[in-house]
Amino acid sequence: MTPEAAALLAWYDVHKRSMPWRDVGNPYATWVSEIMLQQTRVETVMDYFPRFMEAFPTLADLAQAPEDRVLKLWEGLGYYSRARNLHQGAKQVMAEYGGVLPRDPQALGRIRGIGEYTAGAIASIAYGVPAAAVDGNVIRVISRLRGIRENAATPSVKRRITGEVLSLQPPERPGDFNQALMDLGATVCTPGTPSCEDCPLQGLCDAFAAGDAEDLPLLPDKRPPRLLCWDVLLIRSGGRILVRQRTEAMLKGLWVFPMTEGHPAEKQLPAAVRRLTGLPVKGLRQAGEARHVFTHQIWQMRLWLAAADGDAAPHAPWRFVTEAELQSLALPTAMKAARALAFDPAAWAPLP
Ligand code: SF4
Repeated sequence: MTPEAAALLAWYDVHKRSMPWRDVGNPYATWVSEIMLQQTRVETVMDYFPRFMEAFPTLADLAQAPEDRVLKLWEGLGYYSRARNLHQGAKQVMAEYGGVLPRDPQALGRIRGIGEYTAGAIASIAYGVPAAAVDGNVIRVISRLRGIRENAATPSVKRRITGEVLSLQPPERPGDFNQALMDLGATVCTPGTPSCEDCPLQGLCDAFAAGDAEDLPLLPDKRPPRLLCWDVLLIRSGGRILVRQRTEAMLKGLWVFPMTEGHPAEKQLPAAVRRLTGLPVKGLRQAGEARHVFTHQIWQMRLWLAAADGDAAPHAPWRFVTEAELQSLALPTAMKAARALAFDPAAWAPLP
């Protein structure tokens, strides 16, 4: 075993974070947890993971579930394509592998929603197969440990980091080694100023010796998210509210209220709503504002209340739902403020 692996595993044996998906010996649970953990904080996943596993205890249960139910359990976690791909992947594993995830990272990588990172994580953690699982934490730790001072977003540097992980990884504990790297990156070798005084790799670390750990890894500047201005309209008729299920790639399968872009003058909104939904509206009034930050977009939203004028039916796919129906639908977090107003009597009085 390399000195790096020995030091890291000794540290991990004492400091490993306790999580409900660890040490359960269930490849399906490892898969679900790794998908949930992408772009999501551990504390949030701690909340969602047990509920998801209770609803779908086995891969077969997930494969048989309707997509709406899967999305509902994912509601609030964001990046919903992860849930749809996980669901499709479970069906694929039932059809092609008899419901058992394969051990081989190459075979795992051919399953819907399983990329190189997740394949390496499942193979090493659940099956003890030597494989790298390189996420942002691992890129940071290895860049600093090995003093990699090149753009870490390029494929050649990523390959080098993967090679470094494989050369350091002890064959007897590949999963623990990968998880130890992730934990070290999350708790000690953190972005910005790392806690080198608490680090088991300090004496072996190139960046610590050079004093430039805070500058690594080298990553290109990210483009700032694009600001989009929306008017979100809560339109009621007979105690029900107007919604549709999205078919666009972003937030696909989730339910939203009518939205128009560009913040036109208030007097233009009824015509915009009519073009969008087919419905004339009356009593339009603003009820608040909300803001939601996605990775690539910021939604600045004005929230409006209005009543449908007359009994005209909305264009498909718009439809009116009751409060109980709305509760059962999966809405994105961006709609949280609007949803809170949808059936709030104080907000609506005296509209219907
Ligand atoms: S010594 Fe500091 S920079 Fe190096 S791996 Fe440890 S925490 Fe990261």
